[in-house]
Amino acid sequence: MATAVFDPSVASPRKTRRQRSHNPPAPPPRPWVGALATTVAVIALVWVVVLGISSETSKELGLPGGVTTFIGSMTGLVGMYLALVQVVIVARIPALERILGQDGMLRWHRWLGPWPISLLAAHAVFITIGYAQASRTGFWHEIGKLVDSYPDLLAATVGLGLMVAIGIASIRAIRNRMRRETWWVLHLYMYLALALSFAHVIVLGPSFVGHPVVRIVWSVIWAATAGTVLLYRVALPVARSTRYGLRVVEVKREAPGVTSVICSGHRLERLAVSGGQFFAWRFLTKGLWWQAHPYSISALPQPPYLRLTVKAIGDHSSAVSKLRRGTRVAIEGPYGAVTVNARRHEKVVLFAGGIGITSLRSLLEDLPRQSQPIVIMRASSEDQLVLRDEVAELVRHRRGVVHELVGPRKSLGSARTMLQRLVPDLLQRDLYVCGPPGMIEDVIDAAAQLGVEKSAIHYEVYSW
Ligand SMILES: Cc1cc2nc3c(=O)[nH]c(=O)nc-3n(C[C@H](O)[C@H](O)[C@H](O)COP(=O)(O)OP(=O)(O)OC[C@H]3O[C@@H](n4cnc5c(N)ncnc54)[C@H](O)[C@@H]3O)c2cc1C
Repeated sequence: MATAVFDPSVASPRKTRRQRSHNPPAPPPRPWVGALATTVAVIALVWVVVLGISSETSKELGLPGGVTTFIGSMTGLVGMYLALVQVVIVARIPALERILGQDGMLRWHRWLGPWPISLLAAHAVFITIGYAQASRTGFWHEIGKLVDSYPDLLAATVGLGLMVAIGIASIRAIRNRMRRETWWVLHLYMYLALALSFAHVIVLGPSFVGHPVVRIVWSVIWAATAGTVLLYRVALPVARSTRYGLRVVEVKREAPGVTSVICSGHRLERLAVSGGQFFAWRFLTKGLWWQAHPYSISALPQPPYLRLTVKAIGDHSSAVSKLRRGTRVAIEGPYGAVTVNARRHEKVVLFAGGIGITSLRSLLEDLPRQSQPIVIMRASSEDQLVLRDEVAELVRHRRGVVHELVGPRKSLGSARTMLQRLVPDLLQRDLYVCGPPGMIEDVIDAAAQLGVEKSAIHYEVYSW
């Protein structure tokens, strides 16, 4: 393709790239946002529980099926609330995203995930049993009766069915056998499932019937959540992509199977992004436009240019090397908290597995000269030490050192031995790790065993 437009030799002897560039860094995380979000979430949970309890009288509880129906109402209310929290977590609200990062967000989402679905399934079972006990009929007869008599319940039942299907598909053993895109499309149905379930809650729920104010408050909270998702997951990315108008200007082979894509855009000097962050990239070309994949920036922007570097491992990443000049590019982000803002110590060690070097390469540009980085680049073969010259140059100007470890994983020794051997002052440094999940687990475990504090370990897993 065309001649090079992007100058990778960004390390100035006197100034860091950030000092030479007008690109603003991503805003730092505000710890109080996390505390506030947690407090609001806990208060809202208490409100939901109080709402459920206060809607029952002791007389109602004493009736046949009273206690079972009450358990059904409570599990339903709390389940719906936790589903809402799940939606907020993945809404990519910038202030939260800066605190959680990609991995924190996924960790919370996965940790919480089973709860709303299990509680809502329990809700359906308990309510049906409770109603059956009250009307002295059987469970199956009551299901037919409920779905038949209440149209909103039929929609909610379809919604619950969808949620359970998504929950099952998210079990790791099943998820690992699915294509990421299939899993993602299936996940989108969660929004439909929640929308289908919404009406029956306010039309039939004992906490809502005869309580118009509670109905309004609940509806406003749900509408605000839907608005937040639309704003941050749809409107903002569309607006940003339109504003920057990125197009592919160069596709460059870096190593066997590894390609850098350089995009050019307008007003890119206004894009607030930090080294170590990533975007979800959507290449608007036949066959690719419908999927957005996360790739880190492999260098800070050099307005009007932005670069990503991709290793071909599947259909999307392989198609990247065949992109044509002029292809439009939509972006969602920047995301990620593995930036210079996470640093606790002056000095750092960066540990990259294979293509994991991309985000650490851009992070290096943001590091001050006194950071004296120790960079450990691990690769299966010499030609997979991607961007090694750029990394070496950046490290040299920060008076750091690069260790290149090449060969099969077993021959390189354990992560613990590597850290002990190569980073004598490990406890005085922040550790940044990037790459495949297995390697990251090994390095984090080793660092923890060697006494590195959790708050000094920052990582980005190149997987889902
Ligand atoms: C935060 C982050 C930053 C990344 N940065 C880079 C980078 O700079 N350069 C690079 O080459 N790769 C990067 N990756 C990995 C890259 O996203 C995947 O290699 C790519 O999406 C694979 O898609 P595929 O269709 O080619 O392969 P597939 O066959 O679809 O997937 C292969 C594997 O890639 C992972 N993967 C696929 N789709 C996604 C997705 N949407 N989100 C997360 N993981 C996925 C899964 O582990 C999957 O098993 C990054 C991943 C993450 C999460």
